[in-house]
Amino acid sequence: MDAIIPISEHLNTREVRYTPAAGIPALKQAIIGYTEEFYNRKVQQENVIAASGAKHAIMLALQAILNPQEEVIFPVPYWVSYPDMARLCGAIPVPASPEDGSFYPGIKDIENRVSSHTKAVIINSPNNPSGVIYSEKFISDIVRFCENKNLYLIMDDIYHRLIFDGKTIINPYDYAKNLDESSKLIIVNGVSKAYAMTGFRIGWAVANTGLIEAMTNIQGHQTSGPSVLLQKAAIGAINGEQLGVEELRTTLEKNRNVMIDLLNSFEGVKVTRPEGTFYCLADFSAYEKDSNKLSNFLIDKVQVLTVPGAEFGMEGYLRLSYCGSLADIKEGIERIKSALLK
Ligand code: PLP
Repeated sequence: MDAIIPISEHLNTREVRYTPAAGIPALKQAIIGYTEEFYNRKVQQENVIAASGAKHAIMLALQAILNPQEEVIFPVPYWVSYPDMARLCGAIPVPASPEDGSFYPGIKDIENRVSSHTKAVIINSPNNPSGVIYSEKFISDIVRFCENKNLYLIMDDIYHRLIFDGKTIINPYDYAKNLDESSKLIIVNGVSKAYAMTGFRIGWAVANTGLIEAMTNIQGHQTSGPSVLLQKAAIGAINGEQLGVEELRTTLEKNRNVMIDLLNSFEGVKVTRPEGTFYCLADFSAYEKDSNKLSNFLIDKVQVLTVPGAEFGMEGYLRLSYCGSLADIKEGIERIKSALLK
């Protein structure tokens, strides 16, 4: 394992040139260790690519697998970037709304949207924007379903360590029958959320070697790989002291409790209790059905920033973040109340 050294010292090591396009071996080794620790799976260097954030890792995977007009399914609510990422590949985004009106998809919701053009499914749990963790039944069903239908399954696990109420995260590998070179399971993760290192722009994907090779070729022509300094910093985060992750997790859990209590006592607002992340998606349609209009109104009137639910496929909802201080959370909800309750 590489010793962890300050970036300023790293500059003196003369390792300041291009790295291998899929990332330096030491970072790949750290990702291999991470995959072993959190997924109980031993992978090889050839199964790993480091990219400029989980976002770029997902984009590389989509560019490697999608042909124009092919379809990508993901449950609603979905992370805001998935539809445009699919479109950037010339492909067609296919949002799948849970039939029961909840934030928890069932396998039927996905199955109903499959066509002869379907190439991939993207699953994000814990989910941005709802904060819910999908059930073990759903994860096991979707892994088996994608294997049976020969579909790629991208697991966007970027929030998997920020989970509450003593929950455990479901490991998709536990349900995969096929873990050889023809496996179409892609695990995406990164340092942005658990280590609060969003600006460092390091994420990764773990997948079969052929797909990683294709993604590496694409990355080679797009960015030549992530910055060497940031790769070194990511190694420090992954291999270093992990206390900060637990501190962040417990802080977010406390913040979640406060925000949900406040929203539950907010007349007309309905909210599903998040089980992870630092977001919740609340139904404000009793006040305004157009979420863009409501979000703009709240910025203009009381300077509170929310994200319109329409961006996540949920018109009438607002995404609220509880990653700030408790004081800010309380103040924010008070201001929304003062703006909406006459
Ligand atoms: N996936 C989801 C669901 C996210 O919410 C985000 C960031 O907001 C990302 C991926 C991107 O993460 P990164 O900062 O590693 O690119």
